[in-house]
Amino acid sequence: IEDATKLRKSYKGNVTGEDIPLPIGSFEDLVTRFQFDKRLLSNLIDSHFTEPTPVQCECIPMALQERDVLSCAPTGSGKTLAFLIPLLQQIITSKSTEGVKGLIISPTKELANQIFLECSKLAHKIFLTKKRPLRVALLSKSLSAKLRNKVISEQKYDIIISTPLRLIDIVKQGALDLSNVRHLIFDEADKLFDKTFVEQTDTILASCTDPRLHKSMFSATIPSNVEDIAHSIMLDPIRVIIGHKEA
Ligand code: ADP
Ligand code: MG
Repeated sequence: IEDATKLRKSYKGNVTGEDIPLPIGSFEDLVTRFQFDKRLLSNLIDSHFTEPTPVQCECIPMALQERDVLSCAPTGSGKTLAFLIPLLQQIITSKSTEGVKGLIISPTKELANQIFLECSKLAHKIFLTKKRPLRVALLSKSLSAKLRNKVISEQKYDIIISTPLRLIDIVKQGALDLSNVRHLIFDEADKLFDKTFVEQTDTILASCTDPRLHKSMFSATIPSNVEDIAHSIMLDPIRVIIGHKEA
């Protein structure tokens, strides 16, 4: 615990909430504390991710303990892996092999594509069963069309990354079922909970009907209205601020 305090001080971390998990000091800590998947660890090393960044040190153990997290850390601080690493681990260890279990919402197509590329690298060569690879999809225009025409079954995918409108569109047409989603992540949450998006975000929340749904939000800034919304939709959230809170 002394080490945790020191570590937090070193990166000016401000963490508030109930029963806060200890941060990790290295990715190897995940192996001892969480039976972290060895293939996932080697994919991390292969991508030259050797040491976790501060937002990763804090947020990975929280997500692995199924906590809702509201995280604010500067641009370039590694927020993407802070949510992808625990999400992949949770999907690998989840008993259910069917249906979309992880959903990542991004305000723009460009960002959604970046998240997809990073997620695909981490999921490389990971199989959930002998014949069944862990599958990640970017909800593109063409994938939407294939789902709609039932050329592809949504059941094939474990993780879907999408912008709000494209997702709502396909859900409303009954071509994508979100009732198995256990992990819902809002990236650049300040934008997603802004006036232009908030209604769409509400629709997405209403479509993820599993009561065990675990939610997290990542952003470089957390305006007070976003903070209010976060507290209204999350269960005992932990608030992680790295560096200075810009608002
Ligand atoms: P943010 O979303 O906080 O703006 P990103 O997740 O886009 O930041 O990460 C910024 C850059 O840092 C990316 O190029 C990413 O690959 C790299 N990065 C993330 N985590 C690590 C790490 N643990 N070690 C080295 N590089 C990392
Ligand atoms: Mg980001």
